[in-house]
Amino acid sequence: MTTPQALSSEALAELRRRYRVERERRVRPDGARQYLGADAEFGYYAEDPYAGEAVAREPLRDRVDVAVVGGGFGGILAGARLRGRGVGRVRVIEKGGDFGGTWYWNRYPGIHCDIESHVYLPMLDETGYVPEWKYAPGEEIRRHAVRIAEKFDLYADALFSTAVTSLTWDERSRAWIVTTDRGDEFRATYVITATGTLSELKLPGIPGIEDFKGHTFHTSRWDYAYTGGTPDGGLTGLAGKRVGVVGTGATGVQVIPKLAEDAGHLYVFQRTPSTVDVRANRRTTAQDVGADREGWARARRDNFLRIVSGESAEEDLVADGWTSSAGLLEKLLPSFRRQGDRAAFEAAYEVADAAKMNDIRARVERIVADADTAERLKPWYRYACKRPTFSDAYYQAFNRDNVTLVDTADTHGVERMTEHGVVVGGTAYALDCLIFATGFSVGVSGVHSGRLPVHGRDGVRLQQAWRQRGPRTLHGFTSNGFPNLIQLGGTQSASSVNYTHVLDEHAVHAAALVAAAEAKGAVIEPSREAEDAWIAVLAEGAPDHEWFHAECTPGYYNGEGRGRPNGPIAYPDGAVAFHDLLRRWREESMDDILRDGNPARS
Ligand code: NDP
Repeated sequence: MTTPQALSSEALAELRRRYRVERERRVRPDGARQYLGADAEFGYYAEDPYAGEAVAREPLRDRVDVAVVGGGFGGILAGARLRGRGVGRVRVIEKGGDFGGTWYWNRYPGIHCDIESHVYLPMLDETGYVPEWKYAPGEEIRRHAVRIAEKFDLYADALFSTAVTSLTWDERSRAWIVTTDRGDEFRATYVITATGTLSELKLPGIPGIEDFKGHTFHTSRWDYAYTGGTPDGGLTGLAGKRVGVVGTGATGVQVIPKLAEDAGHLYVFQRTPSTVDVRANRRTTAQDVGADREGWARARRDNFLRIVSGESAEEDLVADGWTSSAGLLEKLLPSFRRQGDRAAFEAAYEVADAAKMNDIRARVERIVADADTAERLKPWYRYACKRPTFSDAYYQAFNRDNVTLVDTADTHGVERMTEHGVVVGGTAYALDCLIFATGFSVGVSGVHSGRLPVHGRDGVRLQQAWRQRGPRTLHGFTSNGFPNLIQLGGTQSASSVNYTHVLDEHAVHAAALVAAAEAKGAVIEPSREAEDAWIAVLAEGAPDHEWFHAECTPGYYNGEGRGRPNGPIAYPDGAVAFHDLLRRWREESMDDILRDGNPARS
């Protein structure tokens, strides 16, 4: 943890009070129910603006070795790692018109990765690619996803603009029957699900949302036909228009400066301000990152993960806003829990946190000329209550004459929509266009969410089994009763802000499981005892960070203000320890999960 400047106990008490007040005025009784999904009458919000006409094809009735559900980085990495193990037919099924996942869908102006590209872009060592910017634009990342898919020959069997509608285990053929919304019904010996965590867009349930007669869309389906321009800007279609944007999260912070450049007038409807720290993006060369050394990307990625996971590291290779604030992420991490003198550590953490947040509030004051606007842009909560963001153009945008900040905190968000625009605090804002930067639903895209019905042995439905007995897995990947089904990036494993790194470790693990089962002609399935033992490991070390989330302003990190769901959901010692554990387990115990073709029921 950094050594902060001294803050008086009165100053800390005042901050605590202010944070409580700000939280209380934002908590809504309807919590996550305040949002609408993009279905039924709102289904058009989720349509694919990039794919063009779906290519007609005959439904498939064949058999592949592995079906991978999802063509984002999780699915691409699973495919690539399977290829590395010599697995033959790998079929990736993807809703979008191409590979890329979140980077396929999100193409809004200003889109960049907020994690350093040299650690975020996976398989740089394997592809020989060196990113051109410290924080890459979205299109560079999307192209890299395509690069990996091409290199590992994943296009040959991929199905695009296709959604999997059910997975059913067929004991007789020892395969999963995969059905899709394009009429396919094929078999796959193994299924790997890589359905992402923030993939279903959500809309605010603002009263009257359906009455608005102007143009609307969500940032993850950017309508360039209306705005003109590209992700680099030049939104000529917005010239002279009154444009509103709802949402100031990580997406809003990136898109607002671009809208400000081109809109006739921009109204930013803010409910909770983000923390917006220095970005300092710059072009990078291979020399800057030591890309002439073998294994440079792996070393850099490992170094970043160690630091943001609160583990010791001899040097800080990335040296950015994430690594310099890693101490403030520690409250979520094992290093915080391991502290002997817990009270002293918590006290030091609170002081460091206050210093950081004071710095960010001072940054707002320094940059934003209008005192009232600056005051409204200041975040009043602890660091990382919401996803930290970084920009050197966001606060500056509010100094423009054509930008108005509208604070909606007192009305729990935008109050009402009418035919002509938006109403907040009794004031009507007439708009030609309203853009929703309102984020994504959490916990709805995994196989346990029920959106994708999964029936295992004896027709047991996974979602129902988990609802009755709670989630049951070994390491988060496999479950008794659901043979040869591997879930990537899900519950009961460990995550990190650098999610592609986590996905790659999971993909390596999944490919090793498949390769081992193939070598032995076996079925992958943990025993109930193995699941029990894993759940005990999770329960024993469950981190007590509920106190932190319970004091935060509402958002998707804390179930819209309710704190975390009960029960252990993640490996308590963090991602570095989890990846070590997986490596050891693969060497020592992987055979335990392999059963013969007709596994006995346990
Ligand atoms: P968020 O959920 O973080 O933000 C949604 C925004 O909409 C919030 O500001 C929210 O306010 C606001 N909002 C919702 N409903 C209303 C309402 N009724 N009235 C007014 N405002 C409302 O979504 P994002 O798309 O910004 O980010 C989602 C995640 O995607 C990030 O946390 C991050 O993990 C990822 N991301 C990553 C990027 C990267 O570079 N790697 C870039 C962008 C996103 P409130 O906070 O009050 O709820």
